[in-house]
Amino acid sequence: MTLKADVEATLSAHGVKPTPQRVEVGMLLLAGPCHVSADQLLQSLRQSGSRISKATVYNTLNLLSRAGIVREVAVHPGRIVYDSTTTAHHHFLDEETGELRDIDPADVELLRLPPLPEGTQAASVEVLIRVRRR
Ligand SMILES: [Zn+2]
Repeated sequence: MTLKADVEATLSAHGVKPTPQRVEVGMLLLAGPCHVSADQLLQSLRQSGSRISKATVYNTLNLLSRAGIVREVAVHPGRIVYDSTTTAHHHFLDEETGELRDIDPADVELLRLPPLPEGTQAASVEVLIRVRRR
């Protein structure tokens, strides 16, 4: 199956109508494991000659995220990175470059967690380790 057909199938399977623009965004995001911000994605699309609008990119990312096709990682307040890996995993964040790198969940062992606020259950636990050059 081609990447385009693959992306169309993924969108449809998640109840998202595969419009040409959504497929265009999806082909960049779902080609392989990646972490990108909306602006980085917009830049890549523009570099490849696309005339997609900024609003469409933002709306599409929101939609793909709500549909569970990509995952939002809030790196800093106001800076969201979209992650094509939607299964539970952790990240290293390079403080200088802002680059996110995946950490295999098997490499993290959580020994103790605080009691959860009353009436809640844990939906997920994500570790973000901020790193900088020594
Ligand atoms: Zn990731």
